[in-house]
Amino acid sequence: MTVWCLGSINLDRFYRVPHIPAPGETLAARELTTGIGGKGANMSVAAARAGARVALIGAVGADGAWARDRLAAWGVDTRFVATAAGPTGHAIIAVADDGENTIIIHPGANHRLEAGPLQAAFAEARPGEWCLIQNETVLQAEGARRARAAGLRVAYAAAPFTAEAAVEMAPLADLLILNRVEMDQLQAATGRGPDAQGVATVVVTEGADGATGYDAAHPGGLHVAAVPVEAVDTTGAGDTFTGYLLAGLERGMGLGAAMGWAAKAGALMVTRHGTADVIPNFSEIDANFG
Ligand code: ADP
Repeated sequence: MTVWCLGSINLDRFYRVPHIPAPGETLAARELTTGIGGKGANMSVAAARAGARVALIGAVGADGAWARDRLAAWGVDTRFVATAAGPTGHAIIAVADDGENTIIIHPGANHRLEAGPLQAAFAEARPGEWCLIQNETVLQAEGARRARAAGLRVAYAAAPFTAEAAVEMAPLADLLILNRVEMDQLQAATGRGPDAQGVATVVVTEGADGATGYDAAHPGGLHVAAVPVEAVDTTGAGDTFTGYLLAGLERGMGLGAAMGWAAKAGALMVTRHGTADVIPNFSEIDANFG
């Protein structure tokens, strides 16, 4: 069984600065670090570190061979990562001494994804496998329709959130994953709570409060507590949780067990600085939380 992830790949550049530059100000950064980011890459790496077979469907620019190579070295099948015109997507992240940050994302090749890789991937997919989609590429709805036509189950992580995208994608999804702020925005847009979105399973992540899942067996919500840890950097917690959740469901875990495993992975992730490079693997989860 394979988890198919239709998603973004970015080069993250972190610039450490004394403060966030004011309009018109020029600042020298003290330090530059780079890494792989993008929700598609992060979620794929998380599912792979959880032990799942993962194939990523996406696009990089001609300058992105290193990203494909690094993802492949981490166990992600990158045969369906196309090379598109223009640069690989990238994020310029200024991190100030007080922890404040500002981020500029250039979607680059993520917005040049074409239907070819989707077609090729789903020709190999088997009914019952999961396809995980989020919002940093193009072709989400087309991808979901093609996945369903191939008999796949569709999971949609509604981030970065827009009500328009969530309303379009919900009827195409078997599983909807979003954080509490995004759920509030969806409820404001639709007038319906998490149990009434017309999606078989909805999982709402709640940061240090854990997560709550809603399905036919738990219309009032199944709550899983967070694992108490000292958080130093919450970047990537949601992506890690989502990758583990999918890997758990793909293994045949029930909703509660998969959410519990994902919560442990999310908790370990917030104790670390960084994104894809530091997403924990399943043996670290066992070693830390049993
Ligand atoms: P997002 O990053 O998408 O906003 P959340 O902040 O809700 O997502 O985090 C996803 C999951 O990671 C949570 O459901 C929780 O299980 C875990 N998590 C996040 N922050 C913490 C924290 N401070 N302590 C323990 N677990 C956390």
